[in-house]
Amino acid sequence: MASSFAKMARQAEQTSRTVQVPKQVLDAPPLTIHKLGDQVLRQPAKRISKVDEAVRELARDMLRSMYSAHGIGLAAPQVGVHKQLLVIDLDPENAATPPMVLVNPEINTTSAALTTYEEGCLSIPGVYLSVVRPSEAEVSYRDEQGRPRRIKADGLLARCILHEMDHLKGVLFVDLVSDELSLNEELKDHGFHRDDVHSQR
Ligand code: ZN
Repeated sequence: MASSFAKMARQAEQTSRTVQVPKQVLDAPPLTIHKLGDQVLRQPAKRISKVDEAVRELARDMLRSMYSAHGIGLAAPQVGVHKQLLVIDLDPENAATPPMVLVNPEINTTSAALTTYEEGCLSIPGVYLSVVRPSEAEVSYRDEQGRPRRIKADGLLARCILHEMDHLKGVLFVDLVSDELSLNEELKDHGFHRDDVHSQR
């Protein structure tokens, strides 16, 4: 997700020190983030069978690329890797706050209550549009050490996890936008094509 979602890191308590990297903008980030229109973003991701050093190194490279793009969340398919891996850092301005790494995340429950929020995405730079999603989500996943974890998220964290988990299914936030007029305008203004949206509404 893109960085207009600033602040609110209170729920990101999981310690991911083994994958922590400096929160800085690199001249040459290690991974290229694919953009809307690239079919790579539409392929579903596969489960990770073992959380090993290669997975942690991928997570580090994803974080380096995410911080370089001023993002707060990134899913592996966005860098062309079809694995169920997400990195999230809602507090990118604070060097001490560890990022979250989610391997094979699964939604257990979502709240009936919905909220509308303006989302952005590193794969659709410049485009910000309102999306309706559940306000809360309980998610199970493995952390960067392969330990099973469960989190009950609300607010920005829930929003970010649900956005990133959609990437694992090849779904992009613009697919969920119901305001057709704004969608067309925003995409056009930023050089993207309406045909590349797979509307789910
Ligand atoms: Zn995204």
